[in-house]
Amino acid sequence: MPEAATYRKVDLHTHSTRSDGRFSPTELVDLAVEQGVTLFALTDHDTLDGIAEASQRASEHGLSFIHGVELSTQWNGIPLHMVALDFSLDNAALLSIVNENQAIRLDRARRIADLLVKQGLPDLFDEAVELADESQLGRPHFASLLIEKGFVKDANKAFDRYLGNKRLGQLRDVWPELESVLAKLSGQNMELILAHPKRYPLTVTKLKRLLSDFKKWGGTGIEIVSGNERPDSVRLLERLSREFGLKSSVGSDYHGPFGPWMQVGKFTQIHESEVDLVWQSWV
Ligand code: AMP
Ligand code: MN
Ligand code: MN
Ligand code: MN
Repeated sequence: MPEAATYRKVDLHTHSTRSDGRFSPTELVDLAVEQGVTLFALTDHDTLDGIAEASQRASEHGLSFIHGVELSTQWNGIPLHMVALDFSLDNAALLSIVNENQAIRLDRARRIADLLVKQGLPDLFDEAVELADESQLGRPHFASLLIEKGFVKDANKAFDRYLGNKRLGQLRDVWPELESVLAKLSGQNMELILAHPKRYPLTVTKLKRLLSDFKKWGGTGIEIVSGNERPDSVRLLERLSREFGLKSSVGSDYHGPFGPWMQVGKFTQIHESEVDLVWQSWV
């Protein structure tokens, strides 16, 4: 079988309307099945709310479904995302982190709204909360409002001009420390995966320091590919996963049909035989 055919059957990083994705958990699972995915995880930001619905739909399709969540954390003042996979839904440590992060999201949204007011924009807090509804309140909601009100043309501009980590400098350090999150979750029967390692403002030297900490604190793997990753980045991450004794995970980080490239199950090709696949023991 050609290698490319294999990877597209696995997608361990996706988002539904329960965080900041376009499609409901049911619609997302339907889309995964249409795309030929056979092993799938929903990994909404800081919530487990979509899992029951997605799991139900997956079982109707005979799709192998893995519990997932993308947790917001920080390391050395840099916001980092960690994907937890294959946990039990009643894991108390995980539930407490998720609850804490949801409280942080509300407090952070208030502060984001205040910072935008300082830049001459109206107070968008109430509208952001209303817009978020059952999803996870965050910057994408402010981006939508800024577009809707004609302050920016698209989400990229909204992040560039108002919402990016550079613009919201004071809000970088709101999330729990990676070390403390790992201390609570390691050894608790789940995979702890550093999400999209190439998306942070880190040199390779700093990234290696992060991976060393991550492994030391109980992290079990890294995403060697996230969506439309550059092939040379995939190569580097494959090499680093071996160097640091971390398993390899893969995902599209699909949020919806934004851009021609994005699709559930779609990401840059990896070299499967050269890494320790996180899903090896699941299939
Ligand atoms: P938050 O969880 O509130 O920190 O918001 C981060 C989310 O915003 C990410 O998970 C992405 O889905 C989205 N995002 C980040 N950067 C951009 C961008 N430049 N354009 C559109 N969406 C973005
Ligand atoms: Mn997102
Ligand atoms: Mn992320
Ligand atoms: Mn994501």
